[in-house]
Amino acid sequence: MCGIVGYVGGKDAVPVLFEGLQRLEYRGYDSAGVAVITRGDLKVHKRAGRVDGLIATAPKRLRGSVGIGHTRWATHGKPTDANAHPHVDSAHAIAVVHNGIIENALELRATVLADAVFTSETDTEVLAHLIAAQPEKELEEAVRAALLLVEGAYGIAVIDLRQPDRIVVARNGSPVLLGIGKGEHFVASDASALVRHTDQVVYLDDREMAVLEADGFRTFTLDAEPTEKRPTTAPVSKTAYDKAGHADYMHKEIHEQPVAVERALSGRLNRRFATAHLGGIELTPRDVLALRRIKVLGCGSAFYAGLAGACLIESLTRIPADAETASEFRYRNPVIEPATLYIAISQSGETFDTLAAVQEIKRKGGSVLGVVNTPGSTVARECGSGIYLHAGPEVSVTSTKTFTSTVVAFALLALHLGRIRDVGPADGGRLVRALEALPGQIAEILAGEDAIAETAKSLAAASSAFYVGRVRGYHVALEGAQKLKEISYIHAEAYPAAELKHGPLALVSESIPTVVIVPDDHMLDKNMATVAEIRARSGPVVVVTNSPLSVPGVDATLSVPTTEPELQPILLGIPLQLLAYHAALALGRDIDKPRNLAKSVTVE
Ligand code: GLU
Repeated sequence: MCGIVGYVGGKDAVPVLFEGLQRLEYRGYDSAGVAVITRGDLKVHKRAGRVDGLIATAPKRLRGSVGIGHTRWATHGKPTDANAHPHVDSAHAIAVVHNGIIENALELRATVLADAVFTSETDTEVLAHLIAAQPEKELEEAVRAALLLVEGAYGIAVIDLRQPDRIVVARNGSPVLLGIGKGEHFVASDASALVRHTDQVVYLDDREMAVLEADGFRTFTLDAEPTEKRPTTAPVSKTAYDKAGHADYMHKEIHEQPVAVERALSGRLNRRFATAHLGGIELTPRDVLALRRIKVLGCGSAFYAGLAGACLIESLTRIPADAETASEFRYRNPVIEPATLYIAISQSGETFDTLAAVQEIKRKGGSVLGVVNTPGSTVARECGSGIYLHAGPEVSVTSTKTFTSTVVAFALLALHLGRIRDVGPADGGRLVRALEALPGQIAEILAGEDAIAETAKSLAAASSAFYVGRVRGYHVALEGAQKLKEISYIHAEAYPAAELKHGPLALVSESIPTVVIVPDDHMLDKNMATVAEIRARSGPVVVVTNSPLSVPGVDATLSVPTTEPELQPILLGIPLQLLAYHAALALGRDIDKPRNLAKSVTVE
């Protein structure tokens, strides 16, 4: 969600900014802009719409040795040219880009900035005016003074015509990192923006600021205390940002799943002791025996993966486990128990609500493990210990490989904890073998893509669809419906299969298809009965199953290989990704950048 890039050094800043903005596109945005300082002039070029449009309409002579750029995901004010960032002060000397939300913006407009003339509806513009209100100060001091008046979350970058040798940046709740080069420095909200320039980065912490000049940088807190920061190597891979022959990133990432799962498993399975080892987990066997409850937190697909994960943990450890959306949890004043293990899931590691939940738990004395894809991200650093997915960067807004890898990570964790508690070596061995087989089985499902694409065509013709399943199948249904609605814009809802008859069945008709998840387990008969109920109301049915029995009377059956019951959701979820993908493709949707959505949701 929303992105920042900035450059100070000997080169022309404009190409660096444009390229950085293109690399940040995957995060989701609605407008973009840049500001550069060139020969005593502050030039701003910004507009609603895509970065390509921004580049195509840029004035020929736009250049500068210092500059900042932004992709905006509107929170305050519509996505218009005027509301796009950068925002400037009335003297047109200071330019600001901002990710996040200034919560007391209205109050500041009405009080300390009562005389300022605003040209946008954004909360961000207050920052430009607040900074400009201290013209006698060094830029960093003026920014610091402004930030002391501000409440909310932000990552910002600021340039000033009167001090054109520097960029001042600050972070509170929204990621900012410095890129270190030779005779040049960069700022970005995400290391991917800098992939062509440097992999040496410094991550700012909350309430931390920095001044970047061509030859160096300084960091300090909002209270003006200097901080010592050393550059680390950002784990960004250049190939992650190529489509490698696929039409879009989503397709590429769906097909990367066999490799992603292999990487999630790599070095973590122990055949001899029939268990899993997870290097980032610091729980002793005694700690594990003392656990009374496990609580998993996440948002969106991470929450659905968390439901599947909690179910895996409870079934293998017999410790009560459940999942909750991080956004609800953080605001309901939850009881934090010392014998509960909290687990926070975030692909990006920057999800604002998840991060806030982690901070709430820590504030109340609880301990949290992170399940995160992006090394060095805020949730990973805040949790201190946890499991990295090693799925590689996920560029498409819609998660596919990281959903699958998250459930695999939970399977490893459940096995690890289970072997300390209730699971014996024979059962452990059964799961180790099944986990090892997953990459090959996923590849097998992907090889059947053409048949799934055919089924997707009929789904694409519907305006609404149901997804149903029981227990583990229900978690798969939730994620399947999420995939369909977010990229095809077809209305889709998931229900526990038994709930159909308590309400939604009223809507089942010839024009509303239902995708039924039918694992080969002890509820097979019940799921067959669900299919019969839908068919009796003329509802089209697509069955996703690993049962060798064929379910009678359905419109399509998507089969997946058989695995151990605990791991079934991992395989049953894969055809649903392809189903949503091909439905969206048939409808001509913008697959990687669904409307209104963002990749890493760094605002509330
Ligand atoms: N709140 C700011 C706005 O609406 C920044 C949004 C963003 O993070 O892109 O302009």
